[in-house]
Amino acid sequence: METLRQRLRSIDQKSYKAYKAIEGTHQFPTFTLTIDHVQGDPFAEPSKVRVIMPRAKTALAAEWTNTKPRRIRCEDVLARRVYHELRQWPLRARGSGKSGLVLIDAPEQKVLERTAVQVTDETVTVCLSVGLPANGRRILAKEAEAIFFEQIPSVIERAVYGLREEDIRAAVELADQQHAIRRYLREHGLVAFVANGAVLPRESGVSDKPLQRGAVPFQSPPELEIAIPVPHRAEPIKGMGIRKGITLIVGGGYHGKSTLLQALEHGVYDHVAGDGREFVITDSGAVKIRAEDGRSVASVDISPLIGTLPYGKETKQFSTENASGSTSQAASMIEMIEAGASAFLIDEDTSATNLLVRDARMQALVAKDAEPITPYIDKARQLFRDYGISTVLVVGGLGDYLDIADCVIKMEQYVPFDVTAEAKQIALQMPSGRKAEGGESFGCIHERIPLPGSLNSQKGKKEKAVARGRHVIQYGQTDLLLYALEQLVDDSQTRAIVAALLYMERKGWFDGKKTVRQLLDAIEEQWDRQGLGSVSFRKGHPGELARPRRFELAAALNRLRTLRCRQ
Ligand code: ADP
Ligand code: MG
Repeated sequence: METLRQRLRSIDQKSYKAYKAIEGTHQFPTFTLTIDHVQGDPFAEPSKVRVIMPRAKTALAAEWTNTKPRRIRCEDVLARRVYHELRQWPLRARGSGKSGLVLIDAPEQKVLERTAVQVTDETVTVCLSVGLPANGRRILAKEAEAIFFEQIPSVIERAVYGLREEDIRAAVELADQQHAIRRYLREHGLVAFVANGAVLPRESGVSDKPLQRGAVPFQSPPELEIAIPVPHRAEPIKGMGIRKGITLIVGGGYHGKSTLLQALEHGVYDHVAGDGREFVITDSGAVKIRAEDGRSVASVDISPLIGTLPYGKETKQFSTENASGSTSQAASMIEMIEAGASAFLIDEDTSATNLLVRDARMQALVAKDAEPITPYIDKARQLFRDYGISTVLVVGGLGDYLDIADCVIKMEQYVPFDVTAEAKQIALQMPSGRKAEGGESFGCIHERIPLPGSLNSQKGKKEKAVARGRHVIQYGQTDLLLYALEQLVDDSQTRAIVAALLYMERKGWFDGKKTVRQLLDAIEEQWDRQGLGSVSFRKGHPGELARPRRFELAAALNRLRTLRCRQ
């Protein structure tokens, strides 16, 4: 500790590079401070610092972290507390660039596994970014001293050592309940659950926070209501269960269909208390599928959905730099089967209509052998039978789907009704006149093997792989666009995707032998065993990472324009 103080004093007013002298480990009375990386100048990414404490000195008894969801929840609570305490200080000290910024990668509405705080049996580690203060490029040692000797100790004292059992209990109990509902879904043939009282609409199209005023709380239709027993409360939680199979969400425009589907999309993650979606839980294998014209596709067998294209272009190994609406959506479906999805969440609003349906009149006008597309309506049942993949589909206009639905939920004034029986009646009385075109089975999925060199982070002489916000990754020479990934919910997930891709590239995992599925399995296993930060090549502080699902990682890989595959 005293060496840090002395070193700081000795470099005061010197040029910024002299800050390198404070790299290393410094012992404080109640924690160890490790300065892993010092930024090159005041405008660069802030310096990486870890604060490491003996867990025994905190209120984190062993029972609070005896399951993985519990451990993640405790880390989440601590990260929020550190963020809260940091905000009690002026955002930055005097100085240039990022001088005086002290940041933690704080969670928002979702609880994700992240590197910001790590709790092990022995230690609690808090990862911070610190903008080392300077005036121009001259070191302001006094300000730096204030950060390391006043601000950080005080924040740590209050946020970590000030933690009491009652601060953790509620969060951990909620984690247990959410986990119990997830398990219940798996064991009872359910895809999703939406509790009565849940608040689904968000504040705005760009906010993940709950709508504050005028939200109509969710209330399950009696026919679909189930009660799920959960720990830490006597009464089971009641709400709507969506069973495996094919479920339609219908209703008039603006009556809340997409809002319900979006809540299901986000339900693959846990939400914090007060979010409104605490008990909106979706099977973690559920994937949103949408059209995305312009994306690239690498050797995907889309033939189950799209047969030979004009001029004999084969679709068993379909590649393009510029997919159409229907081919992009078909490719995403096949890719997500390959990645191991358990359900598809589809909204008519964001789909290619011609992939969803070909009605009787079109079938009469355009012969089957002049239409490459076999619409999803003729494949959804086979997909469920052959691959166990359920469908939850929002439709406003495509009534032909009533024929294939197991369950039909109608949204009216934001209130759901079970109209399955009525829908079946209508389907009988008003036949669509369509011929089924889908055949007996969905069709084979040929797993792909990425070829060596598919990932290339070289840019000129340098290596460059960096996330620019949530939806853009610069990977070597190419820009990877992720705007269509609606279940990518945190910028730190994008950074983790970059780290994972870079890790796989440098470790030579793209050896021309491993399938996409094997690569995803291997990364997940690595994260499970070695921790999320283990894919980082930084020493010590792993950077700001949050764990993405395998599906978003696969989706990023699949959109990389340098990807080449064989089957
Ligand atoms: P649809 O897809 O049926 O056309 P949306 O789901 O897009 O309708 O919803 C239309 C509007 O209604 C959105 O602004 C949404 O935020 C709002 N909304 C949806 N559900 C609710 C609700 N339960 N309470 C209040 N507003 C809601
Ligand atoms: Mg809609």
